[in-house]
Amino acid sequence: MQLDAHSLLQLWEDGAALDLSMRKLLLLQSAWPLPAPLEWARQTCGRVDWHLLYLRCQWFGAGFDAVTACPACEEQLESSFSAEQICPPGWQLAQLAQGAQVMPHDVMLQGQWQGQEWRMRAPQAADLPAATGLDGVALLQACLPPELAHLAQQADWRAAAQEALLEADPLAEISIGLHCPACGHAWQRELEIGAWLWQDLTRWAHALLQQVHQLALAYGWSEHSILALSARRRALYLQMLGC
Ligand SMILES: [Zn+2]
Repeated sequence: MQLDAHSLLQLWEDGAALDLSMRKLLLLQSAWPLPAPLEWARQTCGRVDWHLLYLRCQWFGAGFDAVTACPACEEQLESSFSAEQICPPGWQLAQLAQGAQVMPHDVMLQGQWQGQEWRMRAPQAADLPAATGLDGVALLQACLPPELAHLAQQADWRAAAQEALLEADPLAEISIGLHCPACGHAWQRELEIGAWLWQDLTRWAHALLQQVHQLALAYGWSEHSILALSARRRALYLQMLGC
């Protein structure tokens, strides 16, 4: 799971031209290569986010610092939380060290609504590019069998389906509870863990390229040899240069 600086930089460059949904699959495939390239796309949204959260912890640590505007009074709030705080009970990131927890089959949900039985599969990563949020009509229609697709038009049913979905795939929506000390408002902030990881990777890549630039200018070393240095050695050389 720990990639060397050169591989991680290459991964960032490869993903730069992709949209977020494809970037997520690229990150997962690089960490846990599956035989069929699109197998990751068939995993549920929660499984995908669980693995991305694990990668975030491995590469950039388990701490999160966020600045959020209070939706009620617009006060800017700074908050810090850890990966454990956003993981539902029973979902242990450490289990992933053994390898990807890939589920080969669709995860099915079922329930009763207005006396009618319904069933659908849990949304998968491949469903998301066309959808906005897990309660989107288009997303739910894609997951329902055709004869039940009309259910997605009903707001009440969507709320029930959302509940069943989060029970079956708890990390499909990751959020953190926030409280505004200025006005007392409390709310849940959703976290798009894939976007978060990508932002961290981009920040890391920019900082690393800045280091390469400074060391190459000072010593005339190639990018390849600078990336082959450990982070500690790069930092020491930069310190000697007064950077
Ligand atoms: Zn407030």
